[in-house]
Formats: sequence, C-alpha cells, structure tokens
Amino acid sequence: MNRPTYVTVGAGQAAAVAARNLRRGGFDGRIVLIGDEAHAPYQRPPLSKEFLAGTDSQDSLWILPEQWRADNDVELLTGTTVTRIDTATRRVEFAEGPALPADAVLLATGGSPRRLPVPGPRPDLVHYLRTLDDAAGLAQQLAPGRRLAVIGAGFIGLEVAATATAAGAAVTVLEAAEIPLAAVIGPEMGRRVCALHRDHGVDLRTGAGVSAIRTTADHVLIDVAGAAAPLEFDAVVIGIGILPNTAVAAASGLAVDDGIVVDAAGRTAVAGVYAAGDVARRYSERRGRHVRVEHFDNASRQGVAVAGAMLGRDTVNDDPHWFWSDQFDRNMQFLGTASAGVVVRGDADGLDFTAFFFDGPHLCGAFAVERGEDISVARELLGRTVDPAVLGDEDADLWDLAYGEDDLVAEGAGA
Ligand SMILES: Cc1cc2nc3c(=O)[nH]c(=O)nc-3n(C[C@H](O)[C@H](O)[C@H](O)COP(=O)(O)OP(=O)(O)OC[C@H]3O[C@@H](n4cnc5c(N)ncnc54)[C@H](O)[C@@H]3O)c2cc1C
Repeated sequence: MNRPTYVTVGAGQAAAVAARNLRRGGFDGRIVLIGDEAHAPYQRPPLSKEFLAGTDSQDSLWILPEQWRADNDVELLTGTTVTRIDTATRRVEFAEGPALPADAVLLATGGSPRRLPVPGPRPDLVHYLRTLDDAAGLAQQLAPGRRLAVIGAGFIGLEVAATATAAGAAVTVLEAAEIPLAAVIGPEMGRRVCALHRDHGVDLRTGAGVSAIRTTADHVLIDVAGAAAPLEFDAVVIGIGILPNTAVAAASGLAVDDGIVVDAAGRTAVAGVYAAGDVARRYSERRGRHVRVEHFDNASRQGVAVAGAMLGRDTVNDDPHWFWSDQFDRNMQFLGTASAGVVVRGDADGLDFTAFFFDGPHLCGAFAVERGEDISVARELLGRTVDPAVLGDEDADLWDLAYGEDDLVAEGAGA
C-alpha cells in the first residue's frame, strides 16, 4: 500500500512543529517540508537579539536538526518555491519542475516585511529583517560609530535598536506614532519602553513620519515630515510590520482575508488543506472572531493543533496571546490584551514591574518587565474577577489568588 504524503508549504516555525507532532502523533507516511529559503527550519526570534549580537551561533537556531530529520524520516526541500495547490487533486505545484501529489497540505508560509520605495545606487544600505540571511547582512552594519536608522518602533525595530546600540552603533529610531507600541501594550507601557531606549542613548523620535528615503554612493538620506533637511545615516533598517504570504493560497482559490481563513483547528474550507502560523487567520472562540497572530508561541501552538487536525483529531489552539521581547538587559512578556484599566505591581520607574490590565472587574492581560513568573500567575487568573488592590500589593502572594490554600502549585515554572 502507498504511504500517504503530507506536505508543508513553508519550512518555518509552524511547519517544523507540525512535522514533529505528526511523527509524535504516530503518522508513518511521508512528510515533506518545502521551503523557499536556503536553510533548514530555524528560529527567528534570536535574529534581532542574540544572533544579531553575535552571541548565538547559526547552529543554535535549527528547529529540526539534520540528525532528527534523518531519524524521523522527514524530507526537506530547500530553495524551492511553491506556486499553487491544485485543490481538486491536491497536487503541489512549483515554480519549476513536476508537481508533487499530496494527501494533505499545510500552508505555513509566514509573512514578508512591508517595504518602502528606496531609489538610489546603494540598495544594500537598506535592510529588512525576516530571514537568517537578512540578519547576517544587518550584523555587518553594527560596528561602533556606525550611524544606523531604524524606521518603525515596533518590537523588532526596538530589539534591533537595542542590539545595535549595545554593539556601539549610534542609533536613531524614527516612529510615526506619538507613543510606540501603544496599540499592543497600551500608552503608559509604551512610554516606559521609550524611556528604556532613551536612557541607553537611543535617539528615539516619535511623531516622526518618514516621507522619503534615498541612497547616495555611501549614505542613506531620510526625509522626516516637518524636518528642514534630510537626516543622513550609514544604513537603515525598515521595520514597519509584515504582510502575510497569501499568494499560494490565493492562487489555489482558498479564502484569504489578510491571512488564510481557517477554523479553530487550522482547516481551510477545502478538505485536506490546512494553514498555520503568521499566515493563518484562525477562528478564536475566546475572541469570538477570526484572529491572525504574528508570534512564535502562536506559530508553535498552531503547529501542534494543526498536526492533530491532520491526524483526524479535534485539536484546537485557543490559548491567550503570549509573546516576549528582549531589549537591552530587560525581558518583557505580554499576555492577553491591554486595556485602559491598569494596575501596576512593582517598580515601574526601575523597569521591574508587571502591569495588569482589566476589562471591568476581569483580568484581561498583563505586561511584565523582568517578571516572567507574574505572567505564569496571570495565565491562571485571566478572565477571572480579581481584586486590583491585591494585584498591586507587592506583599501579597499572587499564587494564593490563583489557587486555593490547599492546592499544590509549581511555582517559578515560567510563562
Ligand atoms: C527578527 C524576528 C524576531 C522575532 N522575535 C520574536 C520574539 O521575540 N517573540 C515572538 O513571540 N515572536 C518573534 N518573532 C516572530 C516569530 O518568529 C514568527 O511569529 C514565527 O517565525 C512565525 O512562524 P511561521 O511558521 O508562521 O512563519 P515563518 O517562520 O516565517 O516560516 C515561513 C516560511 O515559509 C517560506 N515560504 C513563504 N512562501 C513560500 C512558498 N511559496 N514556497 C515555499 N516556501 C515559502 C518563507 O520563506 C519562510 O521560510 C520574530 C520574528 C522575526 C523575523
């Protein structure tokens, strides 16, 4: 009997986790990971942090090392671009070469950086950061004294700013909004993160909308709305978000709405075709609507859930949204959603605190700086009615809020 073939389009975080869980779940058919990058699946978070700083090597990034793939009979095609799925026959079509028949296809194509037009002779002075190759190129720019502009003060832009500053570069961040990150972590917390950067010498300019960028023989010139003259840099990193890679799904006739539309388990409307990770807009029972999340934890958990669905099990990932960011010597973690009702526990000025967010009397989110354990407790308390005064009291034991006195609790388990 022919072994069934399961194919992933894209060989990033979600695809790799799905492959691992297909094997764990007992699938003994063919698994083929197809990625258009030159590399085996790797973790992206260190690309703006330890790898960019040079403290983590490329070898530390691999998700499914070669030996694991050999031991588990997982095939990998790198440098291979999928163009379309023939959904009637489930054949996977490529830019070049014959199609690959598949019994199930997982679309895990991630996203690509939003780009800005940059005329001039030196496009190599303009950087984006999504791939290992992008990070290796950007790392060359981080020498002491180099003048680096970062356009966009989102998490990745700010991580690059922190890593570059620590490497001795003179960093200017240009952000159009008045308060960076406000849409995600709320304005008060956004201001705290700004202060962290300014305290470390980053020239962080808010309300600084970039109207044009161009290169000269050896510089980048950036026009900022309202400024008299262009600003001059040795290089620029543009970090203004990503667009989901939906081209394959659209060419295959699948439903696309700022992401590939899937149910809570990652199934598209076409039997045997699934989507997960940054590219997937999945139904969330918790939110009562479809959501698309661009974070590592979501890609990993969706990878697990979709593997279950591919094995015919009813697995769903509807965990609250969680992510982390490392900037300078601070670890930040965010869980759930932000709101205007904020209670701060700890030393906000000293950047050692947790902000708990309330939706009426219910805890709806938390943002912790150097307090990962508070995120673990918040996970237990999310959606529950919690006394804000207790949360704000440093002497109160938060685990007592989460559990009854007689419950056994694995404290310090991390988020
Ligand atoms: C620099 C950086 C830092 C980050 N830091 C954090 C962090 O601190 N915390 C956090 O929670 N998240 C972080 N993230 C986000 C996290 O890495 C992503 O959410 C995660 O990688 C998404 O996984 P994915 O599998 O959906 O997509 P990806 O990992 O992007 O994989 C998709 C792959 O599919 C390939 N592909 C696309 N189209 C095709 C095609 N037609 N044919 C073949 N292959 C194709 C792409 O090239 C890519 O290799 C960071 C991301 C970046 C870029």
